[in-house]
Amino acid sequence: MLALEIKDLSVRFGEFWALEGVSLAVPEGAFVAIVGPNGAGKSTLLKAILGLVPFRGEVRVYGLPLRQVDPMWFGYVPQIKTFDRSFPALALELVLTGLRRSWPFRVSPKEREEALRALARVGAEGLAERPLGRLSGGQLQRVYLARALIRKPRILLLDEPATGVDRVGEVDLYRYLEDYQKASGATVFMITHDWEAAHHATHVLVMNRKVVGFGPPEKALTEACLRQAFGHVGHAH
Ligand code: ADP
Ligand code: MG
Repeated sequence: MLALEIKDLSVRFGEFWALEGVSLAVPEGAFVAIVGPNGAGKSTLLKAILGLVPFRGEVRVYGLPLRQVDPMWFGYVPQIKTFDRSFPALALELVLTGLRRSWPFRVSPKEREEALRALARVGAEGLAERPLGRLSGGQLQRVYLARALIRKPRILLLDEPATGVDRVGEVDLYRYLEDYQKASGATVFMITHDWEAAHHATHVLVMNRKVVGFGPPEKALTEACLRQAFGHVGHAH
């Protein structure tokens, strides 16, 4: 079963094509690391999959065209610099928005417990009553991850989830995500600048407005692919 099938996807911002002719077939249960230089269209690709930006071409999720896909199937952790911390809520309240398509809404005691458990799973139980504006970047990442996980997503889309997380926290996070993927059977897409993390994925997508390479790490993370995407080898920035 394919979790995601993309055919000839293009995204245009004015005169500029952020993505051009992207085609991809991702099996259910894959852990896909997405790498590419800044401005390569990585975030735009996730947004197209989520239906957040208009695109040309075709995106199918578990065989269904995107307009028929329940948004609750997706868990999304956006890129941290795009987070709006002025959202007037406590961490726990943000996690609870993961349970619904709209906000605000009525919460049951059971759902509150569920949200606290989701925070505990990502090591953020102590942050439940903290306003978002008073969280560090790494803490905010965890809270958004808890929000994504509480949806029990079939597809988890993570846009540089280790930003603002220290190196130890980063390794913990990757290990956690790997275990989570195996236990849940969800399909995970993670944009990363971390080569180590990319080597641990089941698939790597190397991209720069187009697909440069896609496959198991040892096939996609070749010198030729990286040179083509980055212009040089060994650094993601
Ligand atoms: P990446 O995540 O790989 O760094 P992005 O997907 O964020 O790249 O952006 C790809 C390109 O599209 C960049 O040149 C960026 O400036 C441009 N872009 C992204 N979003 C918009 C937008 N909403 N309007 C105009 N240009 C955009
Ligand atoms: Mg980005």
